[in-house]
Amino acid sequence: MSHNIIYLLDDEAGMLDLLADVVELAGLRARGYTCARRFFEEVTAFESGTILVLDLLMPGMDGIEVMRRLAEMDQAPALILISGHDIGVLHAAEKLGRAQKLEILDSLAKPVSLGLFRSILEKYAGNDTSEDQSESRAAIRKPGAAQLRQAIHDGQLVLHYQPQVEMKTGTLAGVEALVRWQHPDQGLIYPGGFIPLAEQKGLMGELSHWVVGEVVRQEQLWRESGLLISVSANISAENIASLTLPEYLSQLLADNQLDPTRLTLEVTESALMGELVTSLDILTRLRLKGMGLSIDDFGTGYSSLSQLHRIPFTELKIDLGFVSNMTADTEARAIVKTCILLGHELNMKVVAEGVEDQHTWDLLTGLGCDVAQGYFIAKPMPAAEVLKWIRSH
Ligand code: C2E
Ligand code: MG
Ligand code: MG
Repeated sequence: MSHNIIYLLDDEAGMLDLLADVVELAGLRARGYTCARRFFEEVTAFESGTILVLDLLMPGMDGIEVMRRLAEMDQAPALILISGHDIGVLHAAEKLGRAQKLEILDSLAKPVSLGLFRSILEKYAGNDTSEDQSESRAAIRKPGAAQLRQAIHDGQLVLHYQPQVEMKTGTLAGVEALVRWQHPDQGLIYPGGFIPLAEQKGLMGELSHWVVGEVVRQEQLWRESGLLISVSANISAENIASLTLPEYLSQLLADNQLDPTRLTLEVTESALMGELVTSLDILTRLRLKGMGLSIDDFGTGYSSLSQLHRIPFTELKIDLGFVSNMTADTEARAIVKTCILLGHELNMKVVAEGVEDQHTWDLLTGLGCDVAQGYFIAKPMPAAEVLKWIRSH
């Protein structure tokens, strides 16, 4: 039963009543609070599967503060965010929550469409009050850690590669390896559906070892067919806390006669928030061994300029949220422009990800961006299609 409690936190009592009605219409139980402090006094622990609908703008403790407190708890509820601000605030809050390892199911702008709210509830909570059934349904929808560990070792993971092109010449700069899970029952699962789980359960070491092993194997196949392709691979916070990673990788590359400068490791800006001393050590050694280092999703984390300067990054990847909005949103465009200037000033190659149309491409060219990646150029594709794609270009 507890699976179906939906907590509602919104300072407007009228809004709370409306939301509670929808929750009940969906066959679930609602418990509403108009004050965050009261909420934390009364609810001190959450069972897994609990959902909290959270209004961001509240007097006193606001939604961002609530998220910070939840992130410190052993078990946090999954969140549906609501805000009367513009969509940018909601997106920023979503990112902030995810950086704190909270599960954000969806976000809704006020005035909230009640139909949409109900369909979100039905999607994530179901309208069934029997614990057994809701658990088995959750198990189908959400693979667990044991299943994921097995998938890593049973070869159920695959890499897709997305081309990155030099903006000046249109030539291939490299490809980014993006992991997918070819699930036997559920089909292709994207990283959003299992990377957070892997991070939570300490599986990123195993997963990343598989990824780099596969990248090296693929790189060799491409070499045999006459192509030298640089590859970028993503690594997580857990990896940059592993002191043996630099040696492991450089040995792997040496064993396969692969030039380390052909491999770039992408670390998200938010992964750098953790233990900086250890990660600084590891990142510096990766760089000393010749690998490229890219700061991914730049603009969404909290790295300070001095921090950026201390870590020997070779590449800066502007977050796709800014890039894909830059044609419509002058603020996003200003951020992109500043990121390009900053990257160049610090001698980094600047990559824009999420380039979806010609207009964005043109603006980026005008701003002097070095490399572009995005659906406008190509979607991520299986390794076998990469050669075909290159030939047809
Ligand atoms: P990322 O490294 O920032 O990768 C870019 C994401 O943007 C990819 O999503 C890609 O498919 C998507 N994308 C590319 N071009 C466009 C575009 O033009 N428009 C839009 N809307 N999206 C575009 P994907 O493959 O779902 O990966 C999501 C994230 O999962 C990655 O973000 C990365 O942080 C993480 N990830 C993927 N593979 C791995 C991995 O092997 N290890 C780790 N640690 N993380 C991974
Ligand atoms: Mg990346
Ligand atoms: Mg990114």
